[in-house]
Amino acid sequence: MRNMKFRSMILYFVIFAFFAGLGYYIFEFAQNSKNWAFSPVNRHLSSDSLSGGKIFDIKGEILAQTINGKRMYHESSDVRNAVLHTVGDGSTLIPTSVQSRYNAELFGYNFITGFGAPEYFSSNQDVTLTLDSKICASVSKKFGNKKGTAVAYNYKTGEVICMVSLPTYDVNDRPDFTKDSDGKYDGVYLNRALSAAYTPGSVFKIFTTMVGIKCLPDAETRKYECKKIKIIDGEKVTCMQSHGKLDLKTAFSKSCDMAFCDIAVELGKEKMTSELEKFGFNSLQTFEGIELAKSTYDVNSASKAGLGWSGIGQYTDTLNPMYMLKIMGALANGGNLIEPFVVKSIAVSGTNDNQKFTNTSERNIISKIIADKMKEMMRFTMKNQYNDSLFGGIRMCAKTGTAEVGENKLPHGWMVGFSYDESFPIAFVVVVENGDFGIKSAGPIAGAMIKDIRNDFVKNK
Ligand SMILES: [Zn+2]
Repeated sequence: MRNMKFRSMILYFVIFAFFAGLGYYIFEFAQNSKNWAFSPVNRHLSSDSLSGGKIFDIKGEILAQTINGKRMYHESSDVRNAVLHTVGDGSTLIPTSVQSRYNAELFGYNFITGFGAPEYFSSNQDVTLTLDSKICASVSKKFGNKKGTAVAYNYKTGEVICMVSLPTYDVNDRPDFTKDSDGKYDGVYLNRALSAAYTPGSVFKIFTTMVGIKCLPDAETRKYECKKIKIIDGEKVTCMQSHGKLDLKTAFSKSCDMAFCDIAVELGKEKMTSELEKFGFNSLQTFEGIELAKSTYDVNSASKAGLGWSGIGQYTDTLNPMYMLKIMGALANGGNLIEPFVVKSIAVSGTNDNQKFTNTSERNIISKIIADKMKEMMRFTMKNQYNDSLFGGIRMCAKTGTAEVGENKLPHGWMVGFSYDESFPIAFVVVVENGDFGIKSAGPIAGAMIKDIRNDFVKNK
């Protein structure tokens, strides 16, 4: 009897182990089969026998399609380079790309039948993007050999018109990245608009200004004093020049560091942190469900001077470009954010079976009073500091940033902003890594991008 019990115990154990193993296998398969199938080493599985939906830009340009079982991309290498991070390269190396995110819809792929599903079940769908690939191509080229990102969207509809990330490569002529000894292709698979967070430099002053206006009753009327250098507890905080006494609006437009150092120090660590967290710092932000690189504000272990630097967008502050684009859209829109998106619709090829993705939801993320004040201050800055000629006379609101990123390295150049008039509702963010002064590096790219979008906007009206 005891023997029987022992044997059945073993039998039960074997059965249990079998099902546990099977369960584990199915789980792993469901989780990872997509990655295996789309892995570059398994490309033969998906490339020759592939059927696949098309990817269009907003003008109907075909950015990707399958012809005779082969995935083909746009005929222009400038377009292929510019839309790589949004369209993808047919592998899962760029996980934020549309071909990775929508492979079930585009390729009829599912983990049970793989690519082998009968035509009837795997009707490929076409994806239409909100991007204008021609504008993307011309903006991407403007970066030359610099790294960085440029994004622009319609802050009334949410449609992203331009999104480029550098470095990039031609999907038809993939370089050998293992031979990249000088870092030319560092982070090439990242869409920097979504998956990078940079030291913001002076564009962060937009946040410090808003916190100051909200929390200090005389923030706008008092005079801040700048003598170029300030010693706080034995540590130096420095400005570009000695600005003398100025009010907040002038300090903002001249990008004087002292006013923003003073606001941060006066409000203190806890208040600065809690107010910035209300804007979304230190928390998860998304774009079409993709987790963005986190924008962070952490002054826990900052000295008083460090806290001052944090108000100027230095210290350990980081800012994600897409999150900043949302802030620009909200400021333009009286504090109300219309979420940006890049996938306009998905439809079964050749049918009207349209699954539209339009985004009309609007939520308030900044109080209207503060948003409107910030808008006027950024308009004042644009007009008096940068000059409207940068945008071909279009009335814009803007702020540049020059983020120090270490000795012997050129700073990151930023320019962020939005149109003043809602009849041309565009917000933008440009970052040029190690590009030098924001106005010198990001400024011309932003100017060209907005002028391109404006020309097209007028033409289509
Ligand atoms: Zn100053």
